[in-house]
Amino acid sequence: MTAKTRTLLSLATGLSLLIAAGCSSNQPGNTEASNTESEPSQAGEINLYSARHYDSDDALYENFTKETGIKINLIEGKESDLIERIKNEGDNSPVDVFITVDVGNLWKAQEEGILQPISSDILEKNIPENLREDEGYWFGLTKRARLIVYNKDKVKAEDLSTYENLATPEWKGRICIRSSSNIYNQSLVASKIEELGEEKAEEWVKGVVNNFAREPEGNDTSQIEAVASGECDVALVNSYYVARLMRSDDAKKKEIAAKIGVFFPNQESGGTHINISGAGVTINAPHKEKAIAFIEYLTSPEAQEIFADGNNEYPVVSGVSENETVKALGNFKESELDVESYGEKNADAVKVMDRGGWK
Ligand code: FE
Repeated sequence: MTAKTRTLLSLATGLSLLIAAGCSSNQPGNTEASNTESEPSQAGEINLYSARHYDSDDALYENFTKETGIKINLIEGKESDLIERIKNEGDNSPVDVFITVDVGNLWKAQEEGILQPISSDILEKNIPENLREDEGYWFGLTKRARLIVYNKDKVKAEDLSTYENLATPEWKGRICIRSSSNIYNQSLVASKIEELGEEKAEEWVKGVVNNFAREPEGNDTSQIEAVASGECDVALVNSYYVARLMRSDDAKKKEIAAKIGVFFPNQESGGTHINISGAGVTINAPHKEKAIAFIEYLTSPEAQEIFADGNNEYPVVSGVSENETVKALGNFKESELDVESYGEKNADAVKVMDRGGWK
């Protein structure tokens, strides 16, 4: 999908949702969508705000419309902008469903009061308990693992074991990782607080920071590039960044992927850290029942496959398989921590990282 055909949120534009939703028509050349206001389809519609931006998500929404007749008006944007927008819209908010990545963001949405709890037997059956909010405020739809990538010329898989081990002097000057403002790292540290307690988690953070090869910079892809170039020996990144490089047709990216190895930490202990992308029904959803039906649809085997594949993630529904590249990363034992704890411990994690000198 090109930038032309999708709606990127701009609070400055002052466009109304309906106009914006019209522009978000995901079929190039489709102008009917702009008639939303005057000609709602028979089966109705839902308004979706999403912080995920993948072409395959759009294909999925089209499939849902084909199956149910319910039209989806999509607004995309940064999660913080979308949350702010929903708050500003207040009682008049037209939004029904909010989709974002990382529990930290879903938790924030819940804390900001923009979501409502829903109950659905289908969602409770399809999604493991540790990957959804207890009262039904949000539901995990895909999983990502935060794993270790290493430079194959400098590190052997046998040298690696756990997240905790990365804090030992052996790794001095060898670790690359993005900044503490990044929600993935906040959630990882929160999981360590949950597992080890705050004191031990802080010791761990200090040890890891002490082993940094450089000040944190860039995103997860930048960390993988730095490992491939030899600037650092290991990095912690989300699994889909690795799979994305491996799947790329770009020769340079393929070369980078060839230089790195992938290691799933903590296989002998609690398992590799898992996070989710997920969805919740918004507080003033005008089409609540349809919103629930939509989230339920996203846990159908067909939708799970497409949704996970779009960002090279793992489906949350058991029995649905990941794409071939993700599969090739290998089987692993995943942490079974309740991901909700990453949200509960987020504020503590931020403080621990700050005290630990993680920039
Ligand atoms: Fe990401």
